[in-house]
Amino acid sequence: MLRVDRLSAWYGEAQALREVSLEVAEGEIVTLVGRNGAGKTTLLRCLMGLHGKTSGTIEFLGEDITALGPHRRARRGLGYVPDDRGVYATLTVEENLLLPPVSGKDAWPLERVYETFPRLRERRRFPGTKLSGGEQQMLALARVLRTGARLLLCDEPTEGLSPLIVQQIGDILREVKAAGVTVLLIEQNVHFAATVADRHHLIAEGRIVESMDNAEVRAREHELLDYLGI
Ligand code: ATP
Repeated sequence: MLRVDRLSAWYGEAQALREVSLEVAEGEIVTLVGRNGAGKTTLLRCLMGLHGKTSGTIEFLGEDITALGPHRRARRGLGYVPDDRGVYATLTVEENLLLPPVSGKDAWPLERVYETFPRLRERRRFPGTKLSGGEQQMLALARVLRTGARLLLCDEPTEGLSPLIVQQIGDILREVKAAGVTVLLIEQNVHFAATVADRHHLIAEGRIVESMDNAEVRAREHELLDYLGI
């Protein structure tokens, strides 16, 4: 579904990604793990077309999208959930959900969103400011699913959330996967990552330095947590 070939990215003269190549198959959940500043967010932003200076190629659903801007990538089925969640604080949950342009056969109607996220139905008249971190995360995910995204790029959806809410986010990601949506996510909670994802890439200094399956992540959980400084 996604094929990234030798992707590099710069902030001015500083190189943040160094020839990253990776593939994500339809229906997979793949995580990006790495220390702060390793380049994970930069990688997701490059995939969405939000980063200025890059080289390399990005193919999505068999099409070279390297030269396309973020809106055209979104129309083709890429969805980005940023780490700040991007919820509009003064709008209600429902207004947030009704905001993005929705078209095409993969778009989720409001009713389907509320079936998957019953909490958002309960909260639909609440303004963004009144939502908990977990509810904001659900809203951010739901809003991208509304647009008909077929590949979700999620920047640390579990960051700062309590264990119970992390579990709920896990259930939602599994549901999203069951619905046929593919997910590439940044995740520092390697224990959680091994319960929700299929494969994992460790990123260091802008490079993929290791790729692991769940069994390997579980076997190396303590070592990885030490390495990540968690
Ligand atoms: P974090 O979890 O802290 O966000 P990350 O793995 O997502 O870490 P990036 O945010 O992608 O890492 O950062 C990669 C590198 O690019 C780091 O060295 C960082 O200092 C640098 N960088 C990130 N954003 C900018 C920016 N706006 N201007 C200059 N350098 C930046």
